[in-house]
Amino acid sequence: MQVLPGATLGVLGGGQLGRMFCVTARTLGYQLAVLDPDPGSPAGRTADHHIQAQFDDTAALDRLAELCDVVTTEFENVPAASLRYLVAQCPVFPAPEALEVAQNRNREKRYAADAGLLPVPYCALKSEADLATALKAIGLPAILKSATLGYDGKGQAMVTSEAELRAAWQNMAGVECVLEKKIDLALEVSAIVARNANGACCFPVAENQHRNGVLHLSIVPARVDTTITEQARVQALQLAEALDYTGVLAVEFFVAKDGTLYFNEMAPRPHNSGHYTKDACVTSQFEQQVRMMCGLPPGDVRLLSPVVMVNMLGDLWEPDWNLILRQPAVKLHLYGKHHARPGRKMGHFNVLAENVETALAIAEDVFSKLKLQSANGRKYTQIKTKSN
Ligand code: ADP
Ligand code: MG
Repeated sequence: MQVLPGATLGVLGGGQLGRMFCVTARTLGYQLAVLDPDPGSPAGRTADHHIQAQFDDTAALDRLAELCDVVTTEFENVPAASLRYLVAQCPVFPAPEALEVAQNRNREKRYAADAGLLPVPYCALKSEADLATALKAIGLPAILKSATLGYDGKGQAMVTSEAELRAAWQNMAGVECVLEKKIDLALEVSAIVARNANGACCFPVAENQHRNGVLHLSIVPARVDTTITEQARVQALQLAEALDYTGVLAVEFFVAKDGTLYFNEMAPRPHNSGHYTKDACVTSQFEQQVRMMCGLPPGDVRLLSPVVMVNMLGDLWEPDWNLILRQPAVKLHLYGKHHARPGRKMGHFNVLAENVETALAIAEDVFSKLKLQSANGRKYTQIKTKSN
């Protein structure tokens, strides 16, 4: 079945990923409906219909199903029960089963291993009694993570001793966790796959740099041996195949200093590290999301230019826009969020250049100026407040 322009597409979740999905789908001639409780949600404000309700509100789900020809998600933590409720009324891609795998770190690692990928050495923790066994199996240093609901480094603690592990476990307040070996990283890469019954393809692999557990920048092509990027590409496709996946699937990998490629985690949706595709590929990850859920063939994933994507967090607010806009090869994307908070993803910019070194130099120059300006801005505000 194909869903063609003119039809209405639904999205569960109203954040920036939903917003970029809506803008792209609208360009392709679709109508949009967003379900999200926040009246000011970035996606809700760009859609034809914004259903302001919780994800488990059955009347709201009924309304979404009534409006839409097909529904997707931009947020993997939509309750499984809501997805199943919706699936009984209208097509939902990716399928609830795939989302359920991605909602739990232990489940996704087991699934990845079954699909032939190599997860980071890990041990599931369900009770305090599991701590000793896990410590013995994984060793130190290790990272304790909550199995569910973690993002941007939240719900994680690095531990270097048994005492620290016990304290971190107490802090998690009894939720299911995973203890992972801390990998000596050479770098991190991600591979984003688009798949449906018409075929599957993978975007060029991105090299990702994180700061404080949050993605800072992505570099494409990744500065790593092509045997590694090829391995990541093949493994991401393999995982999508094993899940019989329909939609866009992002797979994060660690490249260890010894060259081993470990599966870290997956996201059943477009990914922050795929924002470069908006300006640098024939087809963006959001167009791919539309194409996959609508039963259309995948678009060309060819890279048109080397690119560096830089995240803009709330820490930079309010930026001097001219620092970005005066650069002719820098493309600004803002998410329309009303309130900036430190660590909150507010936007990103893509730098296109003839090679990644030049793109990276421009990206770092612009970013450091934005940082400097925001630091000075904060001083200024403090002085002003004092004098008032
Ligand atoms: P999130 O869901 O917050 O993205 P991740 O598991 O991807 O959680 O962790 C965020 C970042 O923390 C990773 O991209 C990586 O930089 C670092 N990290 C997480 N787990 C490990 C690990 N086992 N070894 C080394 N670094 C890690
Ligand atoms: Mg991650």
